[in-house]
Amino acid sequence: MSTVSNTETLGFQSEVKQLLDLVINSLYSNREIFLRELISNASDAIEKLRFNALSNHDLYGGDPELAIDIDFDAEARTVTIRDNGVGMSREDVISNLGTIARSGTREFFGTLSGDARTDSQLIGQFGVGFYAAFIVADKVTVTTRRADLPASAGVRWTSEGRGEFTVEDLEQAARGTEIVLHLKEDAAEFADNWRLRGLIRKYSDHIAAPIRMPSTDKEKTERETVNSATALWLRSKQEIPEEDYQSFYKHISHDFEDPLSWVHTKAEGKLEYTSLFFVPGRAPFDLYDRDSRHGVKLYVQRVFIMDDAEQILPRYLRFMRGVVDTRDLPLNVSREILQRNKVIDTIRAASIKKILGLLEGLSDEDFGKFWGMFGRVLKEGVIEDQANQERVAKLLRFASTHDDLETPKVSLTDYIGRMKEGQKAIYYLTAENFTSAKSSPHLEVFRARGIEVLLLTDPVDEWVVQHLLNFDGKPLKSILHGNLELPGEEDKPAAEDETEEQSPVIERMRAVLEGKVKSVKSSRRLTNSPACLVTDEFDMGVNLQRILKSAGQEVPPTQRILEINLEHPLLVRLTEEKDEERFVTLATVVYEQAVLAEGGRLEDAAGFVRRMNELLLASAA
Ligand code: ADP
Ligand code: MG
Repeated sequence: MSTVSNTETLGFQSEVKQLLDLVINSLYSNREIFLRELISNASDAIEKLRFNALSNHDLYGGDPELAIDIDFDAEARTVTIRDNGVGMSREDVISNLGTIARSGTREFFGTLSGDARTDSQLIGQFGVGFYAAFIVADKVTVTTRRADLPASAGVRWTSEGRGEFTVEDLEQAARGTEIVLHLKEDAAEFADNWRLRGLIRKYSDHIAAPIRMPSTDKEKTERETVNSATALWLRSKQEIPEEDYQSFYKHISHDFEDPLSWVHTKAEGKLEYTSLFFVPGRAPFDLYDRDSRHGVKLYVQRVFIMDDAEQILPRYLRFMRGVVDTRDLPLNVSREILQRNKVIDTIRAASIKKILGLLEGLSDEDFGKFWGMFGRVLKEGVIEDQANQERVAKLLRFASTHDDLETPKVSLTDYIGRMKEGQKAIYYLTAENFTSAKSSPHLEVFRARGIEVLLLTDPVDEWVVQHLLNFDGKPLKSILHGNLELPGEEDKPAAEDETEEQSPVIERMRAVLEGKVKSVKSSRRLTNSPACLVTDEFDMGVNLQRILKSAGQEVPPTQRILEINLEHPLLVRLTEEKDEERFVTLATVVYEQAVLAEGGRLEDAAGFVRRMNELLLASAA
């Protein structure tokens, strides 16, 4: 390995420089994590090699025993982490160690505040991967050779972590990757057998590959395996301490925080498989990206097959992390095969049930945390998963007029438990935000009669209510649509309305507002407000229209119904108004107010201002 050639010095991508500065300055109090990160990478590299070797056994060369070796030299102040995994080519090294390959990193930088204290907390949550080496080292040398390239294709990457790195070709290199950390003076403590063993047991015990170190007994030359070195999920549940589950979760999810909960299942019988699923303790950066990959790893007979096996879980559970290991798939299974495969369908159906069970079993406090992070995603399940719709619906939480709190706490089951005598439907209203939902005039009669209404303000809620027509046999009904049927009033003779609607003021208003509204009717919804707008039974609601428009979709214009409160003083005044010109002004303002009250936009805002001023001046006179 002495002859080198083709030396090139390159600059880090600007984000890497920023990350390195942050790492070096702010992770000081948590330095020991460097080892976990580098072992995690070594373990990934070994799993990749094992997988690639399934189709190309020659990759093992003469070295089929896959392992991670840790060495140290107290005098030279170095720690070495070596794996005989998949390794890297020159191009791989430049792109993997010179740029930030990890998804979410850009978003992560977006969240940085520039304030060192908060940022160091953030970075602790985010994880820094390979660059963690620079927390303890002022110089890092990576020697690597990719498994499918000849021994002469070795590369050495060197950097002091200050903005540039050097790559050079080696004449001769072993398969895999060796990382030498030249420790900073104040990190000398890590070049110690006991210290390193302690860290391996603490953070990397669950790693399936053996992690070997020299014996602590100087007489012995044989190396010793320091970790348990069995795939964690294959151990029996009773034997696995919580900390092992937690550190395993951190390894597979690249998360730095503990998971909220997990479920570990061994299925035996027609199909044999093990699954271990975690609910993360915090939301990943790309959660709302529906195309983001799922964090479930698929293993076949302990061999890692693929990351993000999206066939295992539906999209609405994309926040889950975990592994599935089965004997019942072929080792050469591909994504295409998985797409129509009975075994995976069975595992998927059972996994969904396990996860829903896990969520149902969370304590109120944990469920609250869970809902705050992932509730919006879980709601998609009502739309996506017909088979489990009722079960998913049972987990949903909404804001409601019961407590008027913005934090969604009310389940549909809670709601049904509070329904009034004779109440047949679950009432809801959708709006752009909580404030406008809470103060909507449509709620007046419900508040007056103590009937609870769910306040839905997530865009996805519009789709939820289109798919969830019933819950527990009760229809869901928008209070912004069509005729209201309140408990005890369903059979109120229509004739009564007819007479009211024939009242002359309604006729006159219809004439004035023609072209603006579909109709004018007397309202049962209002107690305090003079008027509100209602969407006809089968027309698209305003909130949905707004969402579709803001997503760039064309929405056909619909006209709505103006409901008026004949008992309101303004309407009484209108009824008595003889002057046709003043009637037109006042009727128009009543309509315009209704538009404004629900957060809508006026077509003729200037006209409204003029009309208002006319009325103000008239009243002042
Ligand atoms: P992550 O592990 O999340 O991908 P890292 O910063 O830890 O991010 O590593 C960056 C990339 O460098 C890895 O994705 C991998 O491609 C490459 N890499 C790091 N260490 C090794 C290794 N020991 N063997 C092979 N490739 C490695
Ligand atoms: Mg890593």
